[in-house]
Amino acid sequence: MRYSDFPAGQSGRARCSGRFRCVVLGGLLALSMLSTTARAQGVPAGSTATLLRPAAVFDGQEMHSGWVVLVENDKIIAAGPAAQVAPQPTARTLELPGLTLLPGLIEGHSHLLLHPYNETAWDDQVLRESQALRVARATVHAQRTLLAGFTTARDLGTEGAGFADVGLKQAINQGIIPGPRLLVVTRALVATGSYGPKLSVDENVPQGAQEADGVDGIIRAVREQIGKGADIIKVYADYRWGPDGSAQPTFSQEELTLIVQTARSAGRGVVAHASTPEGMRRAVLAGVETIEHGDGGTPEIFALMKKRGVALCPTVAASDATAQYKGWHKGTDPAPPRIQQKHQSMAAALKAGVTLAQGGDVGVFAHGDNIREAELLVHDYSLTPLQVLRQATSGNAQIFHLADRGTIRPGLLADLVAVAGDPTQDVAALRQIRLVMKGGVLYRQP
Ligand SMILES: [Zn+2]
Repeated sequence: MRYSDFPAGQSGRARCSGRFRCVVLGGLLALSMLSTTARAQGVPAGSTATLLRPAAVFDGQEMHSGWVVLVENDKIIAAGPAAQVAPQPTARTLELPGLTLLPGLIEGHSHLLLHPYNETAWDDQVLRESQALRVARATVHAQRTLLAGFTTARDLGTEGAGFADVGLKQAINQGIIPGPRLLVVTRALVATGSYGPKLSVDENVPQGAQEADGVDGIIRAVREQIGKGADIIKVYADYRWGPDGSAQPTFSQEELTLIVQTARSAGRGVVAHASTPEGMRRAVLAGVETIEHGDGGTPEIFALMKKRGVALCPTVAASDATAQYKGWHKGTDPAPPRIQQKHQSMAAALKAGVTLAQGGDVGVFAHGDNIREAELLVHDYSLTPLQVLRQATSGNAQIFHLADRGTIRPGLLADLVAVAGDPTQDVAALRQIRLVMKGGVLYRQP
């Protein structure tokens, strides 16, 4: 659609080696040409409208058959039964027979600057890979994420790549590379000595996150991250630094509370990596918005989260992937203790009625395979396809304060995905991505 309103220029076409890349390049080119043309010549309203006519629309909550969606520039301007959406004489129609149109999916926990640990161990990524190499990979990860239907991603830490996520987000926003809209945290905060990598005690090696302690250190680190472009502050409330390698709390209650206060006064929320009951408890009392992982959560802790309105992002896909990297033959071997613990804590969280954010900790496993989290929640943790679909769209949007997306409604961003089949009945339909639109620009189409 919009990309074909303007034929791709020679330079764009010359670089195209396959049909798919042409679409992406053409889309980006069209975007920049359109905005220039619109500003210069005042393109009349309606001239860029597109009517999408799928078999059904999932609006972020419910399925509707017979609905159409009208998009103009980067926004949805109408959605509803075909007969009720006022026809626009200049609108182009995109027929999507057999497809379900849904809001662009929202990844709740990714690390675009990491790649799967069974390719390269985390320590080696942090210590041996240059920032240039990591950023180059991340550009490909961003594209794969978008083409998998994820038009937004909350990227929870560069893991040793400094503030590279800020530049990555700028490159996407400026149309230089295709990728999801990003919420970034930059370096993330850890208590001194708690994180990694760790080599000899004689060597101070670069860490995967920023060490900060005490009143002065914490205030300075939070403000520095915000000043450099953090949308969210991420803190590691516990980590595996116990005497026996077990997870233990890191920051004190006072430190965590100070992190939240400092971030909040600058309009930023805080999210916490936490898997011990005490780490989770302190983070929740401090006022974080989401707990990441939560493996050791107890009924008491989940009751507290429910009471305080803190969501859990369980990252079941990362647990599953890590267990398999360590030799678990899923399907034949019994579940290892950490997976059994995950099942127990998830059952307790669901029983307590804790709101779930959806995010897989992508990077531990391959970018573009983001939908693994939804699949596992359905197949291994007994959620319904409708539940996980709501989580990945309107649910994540609400938890992450993204009022302009996650739902198909007039006035919201034209971030849309079309899949073959009915994803409210079968989560596998989310693997069948046929169309990806972000801000009215098509990156993939039937
Ligand atoms: Zn993570």
